[in-house]
Amino acid sequence: MKTIGVLGGMSWESTQSYYRLLNEGVKARLGGFHSARVCLVSVDFADIEALQRAGDWDAAGRYLAASARQVEAGGADCLVLATNTMHCVAEAIETAIDIPLLHIADATGAALRDAGVSRVGLLGTRFTMEQPFYRERLEQRHGIEVVVPDSEARQAVHDIIFQELVLGTIDDASRERYLAIIDALASRGAEGVILGCTEIALLVQQAHTALPLFDTTDLHARAALAFALDD
Ligand code: GLU
Repeated sequence: MKTIGVLGGMSWESTQSYYRLLNEGVKARLGGFHSARVCLVSVDFADIEALQRAGDWDAAGRYLAASARQVEAGGADCLVLATNTMHCVAEAIETAIDIPLLHIADATGAALRDAGVSRVGLLGTRFTMEQPFYRERLEQRHGIEVVVPDSEARQAVHDIIFQELVLGTIDDASRERYLAIIDALASRGAEGVILGCTEIALLVQQAHTALPLFDTTDLHARAALAFALDD
């Protein structure tokens, strides 16, 4: 089994999910006392959030590149950057390390193609929904058309992430808001919806809607397990 490097803390609420999913996945596959070999570096999310708000993506890239080198130095065989948003600096990270970065949008794109989804809704931070890095990767590498909520709904999705989910707050009214936004995406032709922020599955799960959901935390963890267990 290879060692999975996780660069987390963005936020730690979802890094917990990664850690659980990786260990559950190894246990399901290997049984007995087996658990995942993980090298985790967890950053202070306040640093990242401040750089996001300032729009200082270069500094964020340098910060995460240095943290990724710590993961590599700890013996990791691959890197899982445990946030969708910060994949906007994936290139800066990749050039700083010699181990492969398992890109979250590729794990998601592969699952969408397997499910036969060609037009998909995307929920995430404003950065993920509005900057080109995520949508273009899905469109250009996976041939998937991406639909995002309207501006007001994007703000609501973003605010619920930053005011509630990354702080560990799960609220029924926010879930209803998300479900209404998911319905609106379906009415615009989305055949499924990407939970494109690693905390969203803490709020909305498949049981809440008939529309297929693509949980990036789960899909990313599965990609890491496939790498570690040589699938
Ligand atoms: N975990 C979130 C994501 O997947 C948001 C936190 C962040 O901005 O990194 O995008």
